[in-house]
Amino acid sequence: MNWNRMVQVMVVVAALMMAASFPIAAQVPPAGAPGIPANPASPRPKGDTSAIAKEAQGWLADLIKINTSNPPGNEQIAAMYIAGILAKDGIKAEILDLTPGRSALVARLRSSAVAEPSKALLLVAHMDTVPVDKSKWSVDPFGAVIKDGYLYGRGAIDDKGMLAANLAVFIELKRSMAHLNRDVIFLATADEETSGDASIRMLIAKHWEKLAAGFAINEGGNVFLKNGKVEYIGVQADEKVAYNIAVIARGTSGHASQPTKDNPVIHLAAAVAKIGNYSAPVHFTSIVRRYFEGLAPLEDDEVGKWMRSMDTADRGEHAQRVISDASPLWNAMLRDTIAPTVVTAGVANNVIPAEARANLNVRLLPGDPIAALVNDLNKLVNDPQVKLEVQPNAGLAAPSSSLESEFYKLIAKVVSQEFGGAPALPFQSTWLTDSAQLRLHQVQALGLVPFPLTQDDLKRMHGDDERIPLAAFDKGVDVLAKIVTEFATAH
Ligand SMILES: [Zn+2]
Repeated sequence: MNWNRMVQVMVVVAALMMAASFPIAAQVPPAGAPGIPANPASPRPKGDTSAIAKEAQGWLADLIKINTSNPPGNEQIAAMYIAGILAKDGIKAEILDLTPGRSALVARLRSSAVAEPSKALLLVAHMDTVPVDKSKWSVDPFGAVIKDGYLYGRGAIDDKGMLAANLAVFIELKRSMAHLNRDVIFLATADEETSGDASIRMLIAKHWEKLAAGFAINEGGNVFLKNGKVEYIGVQADEKVAYNIAVIARGTSGHASQPTKDNPVIHLAAAVAKIGNYSAPVHFTSIVRRYFEGLAPLEDDEVGKWMRSMDTADRGEHAQRVISDASPLWNAMLRDTIAPTVVTAGVANNVIPAEARANLNVRLLPGDPIAALVNDLNKLVNDPQVKLEVQPNAGLAAPSSSLESEFYKLIAKVVSQEFGGAPALPFQSTWLTDSAQLRLHQVQALGLVPFPLTQDDLKRMHGDDERIPLAAFDKGVDVLAKIVTEFATAH
């Protein structure tokens, strides 16, 4: 970091720290609004998280105001802000620089003088966000506007909400002088959204000894609200693996006034159309099998019936089609998926180009080999003018986290208690998280964004007008505190 940039960063962080040290009175909706405790000054029973949750709402607002759209990320500024918050409670954090302007942050509460990494619990969240299309937002995406009980802003859910909740639980452990039976490590990662040079992969390669742990709680799973009630809690124990495949059609370039049959645009279009209509065969992983077994009784009779029939010899195929058509999420949990995302061809309106390309974004079920899919697609396309090339920097298949561990069982028990008896179901996310890298290092990583959210709110992640209901944020802080207290303290 050069000196000018250092001064700039210091000024931004200082301004945010000043803001953070005052109550967020101006942003607080009237008393009685969802998420705002009625009387935070009154004495609180042990384990009451209402005061720390309210404080954490302020940190979340500040984190939203620090623009960490990736690229370029600029997570270092967020890391410095978090270090300042931790320092106020006497917790020393380490900022781990990865690339210019991009850092992760790690802090530890010790249970004993000698660390036992295999027992330690990591609280993980990423600081970067996806970019915004400002013109599509009804509020400033970096303004942390509060409206109708919601806090709006890029990252409000993904993943600054979790970052602020982790911070709240971590600081509350320190304040309450909890008697820890294992180290608790707070980890804020960078570059999660593009898995590039400042991502957890690089962090682990450079600094593993600082974050080594046996267990982790990260994003990846969700508390699904339906008709005003929690339907189920998906605890992510595995995730799909991402690849990109280039589809390249080649032909002879020429004058567009004399069309030719080997025009690569035509061959590419035909190939992409065939691939777009292709559905890979269903393959049940053990997590997905348990997910549908648990979900079937919660759905209406018709859907439940087809969920139960998916693995039967006589009605299986029809049932798989019904369930896949009912939900893009369910479809993607059952099979490898292929989404054409980028098409490029042509240099001028009157020139037949020599080459046309498309990108396929592929998500494989854990354990499925990419070579088999490429083989199937080559047979399907069946065109000597079209080649498929697997691109570098693919995701890595990691082992899934155990559903038989005490850690999983404890989380499942606590969330079910806290969300009105709704069941916890093991979840295999179709999206990627930092947990794959952790699982490759023998960490039992489980994914749970602890905020109860509707489909509408979940869709806004990576979309426009991302927002979190403040009441859901407070509830999430409380649930996370209960999980961590039960797992990591003597009580
Ligand atoms: Zn995320």
